[in-house]
Amino acid sequence: MADAVSFLFGVIEVSKSRNKQQYDWFYRKPAWRKCRMIALERDNHLCQHCLEKHDIFTPADVVHHIVYVETDFTLALQLDNLISLCHACHNKVHEEDEKRFRNTKKAKRQRMIESKKIKVVKL
Ligand SMILES: [Zn+2]
Ligand SMILES: [Zn+2]
Repeated sequence: MADAVSFLFGVIEVSKSRNKQQYDWFYRKPAWRKCRMIALERDNHLCQHCLEKHDIFTPADVVHHIVYVETDFTLALQLDNLISLCHACHNKVHEEDEKRFRNTKKAKRQRMIESKKIKVVKL
């Protein structure tokens, strides 16, 4: 029994890490680095959540995809889909998304709807 459980969890771990690595190549692309820089400059290198929600100036460490790359890859390089955040806010966003989008069918559809709201602009 214990063997079956550890076997299952082993499988889950593997597929999770594979999913993460799947987009590693993307984050190494010069096109992404360029977009990331443009987004940071647009946001004045400040965490947009700290600024909007708390009126605090915090240097941004991360450029976050509002609609995740794995949800809609066509938005991966869209500036409207990028937001500069600090580490703390970035972790929070992912925690909240995790709660909102537990892997149900409804959640997947909701994600797709949100992705449609983002304007696609040619760079
Ligand atoms: Zn922040
Ligand atoms: Zn993120």
